[in-house]
Amino acid sequence: MDVLNSDGRFLARASYSPLSQIRARVWTWDEEQQVDEAFFLSRLQQAIQARQNLADFPPNDALRLVHGESDRLPGLILDRYGGTLVAQFSSAGAERWRELIAEQALLITQAEGLYERSEVEARRLEGLPERAGSVWGAPPPEQLLIHENGLRFWVDVYRGHKTGYYLDQRDNRLRVRALAKDREVLDCFCYSGGFSTNALVGGAAKILAMDSSDVALAQLQKNLALNDLPVERVELLEGDVFQSLRAFRDRGRAFDMIILDPPKFAHTAAQAQRAARGYKDINLLAFKLLRPGGLLVTYSCSGGISEDLFQKIVAGAALDAGVHAQISERLSQAPDHPVALSFPEGAYLKGLVLRVTG
Ligand code: SAH
Repeated sequence: MDVLNSDGRFLARASYSPLSQIRARVWTWDEEQQVDEAFFLSRLQQAIQARQNLADFPPNDALRLVHGESDRLPGLILDRYGGTLVAQFSSAGAERWRELIAEQALLITQAEGLYERSEVEARRLEGLPERAGSVWGAPPPEQLLIHENGLRFWVDVYRGHKTGYYLDQRDNRLRVRALAKDREVLDCFCYSGGFSTNALVGGAAKILAMDSSDVALAQLQKNLALNDLPVERVELLEGDVFQSLRAFRDRGRAFDMIILDPPKFAHTAAQAQRAARGYKDINLLAFKLLRPGGLLVTYSCSGGISEDLFQKIVAGAALDAGVHAQISERLSQAPDHPVALSFPEGAYLKGLVLRVTG
């Protein structure tokens, strides 16, 4: 449909979603541009082409090919895991063009198949049912092998989080690799071991990897074995991070590097306050567990928590923990998750590397 201003002048061509609070999602601001097969082919080609250099240096075969609004395809996530594509259609507009998009994505990438993981909360808000399954090609194997920065990982696209793996942390894992040497590392919310494996490669002395999910920890173990890493340096702990950090504090345990990569605490701006308490809690505890000279690598992937607010929360945590800490690096999502200037909300992942002084 066309979006007009109060004088009846053309503003944009958009998809309409009567049930969602976001009634219209813009496909194009150009009145001459039709939203048809050629339109989607061109948008998909542009997005996929833009990732080419990321795939080559170093060879990475797991990439986000389409990042929704920022690639001017609102409601569409398209990830590549080796020869398999995994898609998420989360808006009424993306759903309307689902089959065409799948067909064109396969044509451009020459992938073996496309699997759908449209099980996101956003679909409910659009009045769409959750859906998962093969859209095209044979169902993918239970475990897909991917290559990331010289390491290999097994990805479960059926049951894994998001579309199977946290692609957005790719570059940040390399930072951990570079900083982990000889350190005793605590990897909180470790999932399938993206950070733990990289810390090991970087020469970490010891790693304690913690997650509440036994499935995630089993996947981490598979990934350690797959990369021939010194597994004897890794201890796994199934449990709740909030409780375990408290227990560590009470027992006087200490680490040289702590990674905090929690799940999204705030799904909307309205939940920001409760989320802020959660971030403060874990960051405060982490500060208390760090030895002098220790590093805290802390993230928030909540869209409702701005970079500025996150820094303030972490500053409050340091103050209450009684430590002096400095920001040595600011981190964000990997470049295959770009942020369109017209869509600053797309900048959801923020991270800080903090050095605690004595
Ligand atoms: N760092 C990971 C991604 C983390 S995703 C990577 O780079 O791939 C968040 C993880 O936190 C999930 O694996 C989830 O199982 C775990 N989790 C969620 N709540 C938790 C809690 N309260 N305690 C421990 N783990 C939790």
